Amino acid sequence: MKTIKILHMYADMLDLYGDSGNMEILKYRCTKRGIDCVVDTYSIDSEMPDFTAYDLIYIGGGADLEQQHISEDLLKCREGIISAYKNGTFLFLICGGYQLMGKYYRDADGNDIKGLGLFDYYTVAPNSRRKRCIGNIVIETEITGKPVKVVGFENHGGQTQGIKTPFGKVLYGNGNCSKSEAEGYCEKNVIATYLHGPCLAKNPEISDYMIEYCMNRGDEVITPLIPIDDKLEKECRKVMVHRLLK
Ligand code: GLN
Repeated sequence: MKTIKILHMYADMLDLYGDSGNMEILKYRCTKRGIDCVVDTYSIDSEMPDFTAYDLIYIGGGADLEQQHISEDLLKCREGIISAYKNGTFLFLICGGYQLMGKYYRDADGNDIKGLGLFDYYTVAPNSRRKRCIGNIVIETEITGKPVKVVGFENHGGQTQGIKTPFGKVLYGNGNCSKSEAEGYCEKNVIATYLHGPCLAKNPEISDYMIEYCMNRGDEVITPLIPIDDKLEKECRKVMVHRLLK
């Protein structure tokens, strides 16, 4: 069977609210199905990897300071990440990682952190550091082909503009901007979202969408994943959805 190869970038710097847990969840759901899943890490001063060798590249979220620290190094990876994305590598991006794939992130002091410009969106934080989008969030996405509610936690100053294909619509919380209707950004091989949590903990369909994508990459006929027991995860999500949307 195929081995899924994941590159987790800046795990030591961009790991807000347990974002690294998303890697544990992907590994767990692969192991349950007998799929081998290898997660390599990359950080500042690591040897430049062959990004195209990976099925999925993952970047978590972080405070402005951490985003500043990694930005120069991230720009050095630009060509590699773009080639991988164009070659069909899946990009899974949370909050700070999401912002830095756009044109720029402008912090509360008006300083720009240059993004990779892989996508057209850009993010601007309000002048006041007190104005942040903080709290639980529920969205509905159709990335899997049918509507699924996704729960998480957001904490960002940045307001992201210029999104044509959001990851989901906001049912509770803020999303890309304060009180906006849209959350995140997506393409067939991209999920970029403000949802921490870690995001995958209570949202098994999203993990499986990515695993299925990686397993079938380049194949003409899609082989669906074997279902595994999700009762507990879905029950946890149901509790949150009830609490927030009642
Ligand atoms: N520092 C960014 C912001 O405040 C990203 C925060 C995050 O990753 N949670 O918008």
